[in-house]
Amino acid sequence: MQEYPYYVSGEFRKSGREITSLNPATEEPAGIIYEASVEDVNLAIASAKSAYKEWAKKNFKERAELLRTIRQAILDNLQELAELESKDIGKPLKESLFVDVPLSAEVFGYYASFLESLEERVQRSPAGEDIMTYIPYGVCGVFLPYNVPLMIFGFSAAAALAAGNAVIVKPSEHSSLSMLRLARILHTEGVPLGLISIITGRGDTVGRKLAESEINLLSFTGSRQTLKKIIEASSRSPKKIICELGGANILAVFQDADLEEAKQNILGSVFMKQGQICIGTSLVLVEEGIYDKFVASLVESTKKIKTGDPFNPLTGMGAVISKERLLALDEEIKDVVRQGGKILCGGEPLKGKGYFYPATLIESDRPIYEEFFGPVAIVVKFKDRQELEKVIDTNPTGLVLQVWTKDITKARNLAFSAYAGTVWINTFAQMSASTPFGGVKQSGFGRNLGREGFFEYCQAKHIGIGLGKSPVSGWFGV
Ligand code: NAD
Repeated sequence: MQEYPYYVSGEFRKSGREITSLNPATEEPAGIIYEASVEDVNLAIASAKSAYKEWAKKNFKERAELLRTIRQAILDNLQELAELESKDIGKPLKESLFVDVPLSAEVFGYYASFLESLEERVQRSPAGEDIMTYIPYGVCGVFLPYNVPLMIFGFSAAAALAAGNAVIVKPSEHSSLSMLRLARILHTEGVPLGLISIITGRGDTVGRKLAESEINLLSFTGSRQTLKKIIEASSRSPKKIICELGGANILAVFQDADLEEAKQNILGSVFMKQGQICIGTSLVLVEEGIYDKFVASLVESTKKIKTGDPFNPLTGMGAVISKERLLALDEEIKDVVRQGGKILCGGEPLKGKGYFYPATLIESDRPIYEEFFGPVAIVVKFKDRQELEKVIDTNPTGLVLQVWTKDITKARNLAFSAYAGTVWINTFAQMSASTPFGGVKQSGFGRNLGREGFFEYCQAKHIGIGLGKSPVSGWFGV
């Protein structure tokens, strides 16, 4: 079985504690990773501290060069990295190959160009000169979720490195392989020692140790439950926290929408990546005038989604990440049924090898704000725009919202009034390296991507140069 040592201070290391990373589609081992020791976490931090001091001295152009090298390294090894990610996570290869891994490269490329266009601001007056520049926080801990490790590495680490920080990456114990393979590739590309370390192991051991240590910035993408633990652990040594969580994302279809397009995008946003994606829809609201016909057609199409081998190009959905997650998901669905929900399709794990759950829709007479993080959505009827606004407002989370209608004035008004990080009108997943991304309410705080993402990872510094008398000279008249 292929071994994947972790990467600390420019060295690949193993500890005595192995973790077998399973391929969820076959239940066979995908690779062996190791639980990093406390000493190795400390070494990663010490080495990142010296690395960032040198790195922060580099000018924007020099930093851009390294970001371009990382971008190219990802693209040159795209097929291998995508296959590894699909094998480790169970998601269809076409998603890793055409979306997740290339998007990571795109973000590194974006921040390289951004750095080249970034200028220090200078203000001049007879009294002097003021220079506004940007300095890094120092050592940045980057916590990755299991579903899209390389993509989120791009979302967080590209801006962190661009801003002059060193990064210590903690991937999920369920999906560390692609990140560790990339570490090998970047090592041979000559990334400065300690600038990027990858420490692997369980969240409540290695992750906790990193969260409580004296790092300066923590960029977390994951679940709300873990964030609470991270905030508690990080209080031992206060630091800035940027966090990207999930949410019960709402999709609303008005009766005047392009109904075929709306249906296609419900399928895409509920079932891509087996629903294991933070921007996925978990609550579908359909206006009452079209409800029966539209939902019948939606159910018919949903039943046709093929679940199975992630490497088969005809597969629509692969496996969910683990047996525990499969059983928990099943329990969450049964719980909705106990609360009065009616299964329209799916609703039982598939039998046989692998952790497969079929595409599932549940009808409910009221909104349920649950992030299933699996291939399931609640379908609810709504009466009018006022009722819809109330549902959006009551949602305790606010990552993304989709609105489907041909009445653009109505959609724009809704989009501006809705409290959410992203609103998509008649589209889904329209995002790129240059569009800021993040949640409001319980979906997180801080932004990744875009100009806004860069400024999350640095602080402004002011240098004032006096060219005459200072504002306080002569104050005491002595
Ligand atoms: P998770 O919270 O279980 O784990 C995230 C990371 O935290 C992992 O690296 C894990 O090892 C680590 N961790 C776990 N316990 C820890 C602890 N006690 N101390 C320190 N670190 C710990 O999340 P997950 O199940 O891997 O990912 C799914 C979640 O991620 C979903 O809620 C989803 O919405 C969210 N997500 C959000 C975005 C976004 O950009 N908003 C993107 C992808 C996923």
